[in-house]
Parts: sequence; structure tokens; C-alpha cells
Amino acid sequence: MNSILTSGIKINDNLNKDNIIVAKLIIWNNKNVTENRSTIFYKDWFDRGIQCFEHLFDYRNNTFYNFETFSYLYDIPKNDFFKYFKVISAIPPEIKLQLSIDGIILNSRTSLVESILKTKHVNKLLYNNLQIAVDKLTAEIKWESIFIDTNLSLEWKLIYKIIYTTTIDTILRNFQHKLVMRILPTNALLYKYVTSNICEQCNCFEETIEHMFWDCQITQNLLLNLNIFLANKNINIDYKKIDIMFGLSSNSPYSCMYNYLIILMKNLLFTMKIRKIPPTFQLFF
Ligand SMILES: [Zn+2]
Repeated sequence: MNSILTSGIKINDNLNKDNIIVAKLIIWNNKNVTENRSTIFYKDWFDRGIQCFEHLFDYRNNTFYNFETFSYLYDIPKNDFFKYFKVISAIPPEIKLQLSIDGIILNSRTSLVESILKTKHVNKLLYNNLQIAVDKLTAEIKWESIFIDTNLSLEWKLIYKIIYTTTIDTILRNFQHKLVMRILPTNALLYKYVTSNICEQCNCFEETIEHMFWDCQITQNLLLNLNIFLANKNINIDYKKIDIMFGLSSNSPYSCMYNYLIILMKNLLFTMKIRKIPPTFQLFF
């Protein structure tokens, strides 16, 4: 495991020679993060998904999470406080500064480190990844063909950013990221492995991402109920399909709150589908 991690760091170093993305560098066994000249590696934290600097950094206020938030986010025991303090103290100020300068960067490279950790064929993987970096992401091309009237090519940065500014909950962030990358396991995607590609909720249409989170009558009912609920509180949101998929980007004071509710709702739809339970508005609230 250590040698794989070290190779990951080296690859990251090379990858980013010209344009270092500090947020994506691995914390563990990193020669820049040392205590008494020793690098640090907490396997139990690593197993909880804490791998890169961005996993410790709170982009809302440009500082590292305080221990309480960190412990809540990753379900870390309270008595790990000193371990957290040790890591944060070991991170050099240049890295912290660079994290706040770079801001939120979330794109296909997010999964690169994770993939490197899982693969033995690093060279091939790296080659493929560089190809992806040059070519446009398949998911982005697909979305652009769906929302042909919107110039989505200018919006990607914002779409990835909304994921991080809407919620600090890593489960919801991962969920929305998978939705944007079109890698959520819908029946249409899993058709080779499941018996039907039909929507589990309405049993009428092919279960694609667009169907599950917009076209399906069950989803439309949930959205309608949510908007009636908000309208009763004098909050009127004008939403379109694209807003439900990626979030509202307007400066309305309610955008962030609405985006959060929509991610929650989509996550509920997805979870209920897997559990084969019909989603209702009562379940949502
Ligand atoms: Zn349906």
C-alpha cells in the first residue's frame, strides 16, 4: 500500500509540474507533510475517503476544517483530535495558501488518484487520463447534446463548483458529482446486469438519468410538492430541467438552499430506487 501511495505522489508531482493542483495531491506519505522528518499515514482515515488536501479544506472560509466539522463529515472519533492537529500542523503554509488561491477545482482529475490507487497499470492509466484531459469528457459532451439550447461549454466550471458550495456533506457531494459525470448506476446503464432497463418508480419508461431526475411522473410530483411547500412560505422558485440537474446558478438568496433541497431530493429518489421503496414527499421531509 505504501509503495502504491508513493508512486501516486510521484505521478502527481510529474503531472502537475507545470500546473500544480495542490488540492488533488495525496496527504499520506507526502514528503512535504512531515512530523519529525517522518511522513504520515493513517490507514483508518484513508479508508474513510480522506486522501487529498481538498478533503481537509473548507472552501467556504478558505481554511482547514475545524476538528468538530471534520469529525462530523467523516465520522472520525472525537479522541482523534490530536491526530488531526498533527496532520494540520504538518501541512506547510505554502500548501494552505495555494489551496485558498486555487479555490474549488473539481473535474475528471478527482478520480485520478483514486484510480491510481486501484490500478497496477499506472502508465496506461495515466496515458488514458491525459487523453481524457485533452479530449472533452464524454459526460460533458452528452449533457451538451441534451441541453442544446444552453451554451453549457462555458458553464462547466460553475457546475462543478456548485456541487461544493451547496453542501459540505461528502455523501451528497459524491452523489451529485456522479450524476454530473453520468456514472450513477441507472437501469439503462446497468441493462447488461439487471433484468430490465425500465424505471423502477413508474414502470413505464427507460430509466435514464434524465428520466429519473426529471421526466418521471414520480419526480415531477415530488418537485411540485416541494415548490408548493416553498410557495406557502413565500419562496417562489422558477426552475427548469437544467436547474434540477445541475443547480440554480442565479444570485437569488434562495439558490443555495434550493440547490441543497434538490440534491437531497435526487439522493432520496436514487436511494429509494435501490431499496425499491416508492419515494413520497413525506419521506423527503
Ligand atoms: Zn419513471
